[in-house]
Amino acid sequence: MRQCPAHADSAPSLHVTVADDGRVLVHCFAGCTVEEVLAALHCSWKHLHDRPWLTPQIHHATWGRSAWPTFPALDARAGAHPAARGMRLVSVHRYGDGRWLLERWRSPGGAKDLRWTTRRGRTYLPGMFGVPTSALPLYREREVRMAVGAGEPVIVVESESSVDAICRAGTYATTWAGGAASPNLDRLVAVLRGADVVLVPDHDEPGLACARRVWAALRPVTRSLVGVTPEPGQDARDLLAARGVAGLLGGAR
Ligand SMILES: [Zn+2]
Repeated sequence: MRQCPAHADSAPSLHVTVADDGRVLVHCFAGCTVEEVLAALHCSWKHLHDRPWLTPQIHHATWGRSAWPTFPALDARAGAHPAARGMRLVSVHRYGDGRWLLERWRSPGGAKDLRWTTRRGRTYLPGMFGVPTSALPLYREREVRMAVGAGEPVIVVESESSVDAICRAGTYATTWAGGAASPNLDRLVAVLRGADVVLVPDHDEPGLACARRVWAALRPVTRSLVGVTPEPGQDARDLLAARGVAGLLGGAR
């Protein structure tokens, strides 16, 4: 598996293999045709099917540097890597016991960037390899399932950073992969059925809209459901800082 030279390939998606009869077989899983891959490499079909009569070095010397295949940087599709843009890695959130990592990068100017990586064998590669965020478990789902089993209240918030802050303060919390735009209602319902839940949205328009959807989904299945809304423009972490865990839990205990 290699990066495909015919499209901006941030994950290796070009499969190259040699058939029993000696022919080279090329397949881009992103959908490039063989002709497109060959064109990007300055090659033709005969290069795949005929025994080469010159070495790559002679090919290079003949065609010059202009003909040497160049590959896009690993992160071509998503723009330069955040580290190359002067951003700093501020936190790494593990989903599914570390099968997926969500990296949170921030620039000195305050800009944010979120990047997913996926464990493949003993290494992590950029991207999700076609897995939608809706297929991921909830954040810290294993702890949350234990909390629900033990009858402990669970705080549902909008960001992994808020979850981590609340967990450090000694209470169970969770969120879903994908943010306010796409709450994972099916997973929330499955994991939080029968639980005592406190919903703490970000107090902005997308946060409140998201909270209404989560509320409607959880209301029929939870043992108790309480909404605690931070001050306008604030989120669960601000509320935690101002009022502590007791302020977050509201009437749940
Ligand atoms: Zn391709």
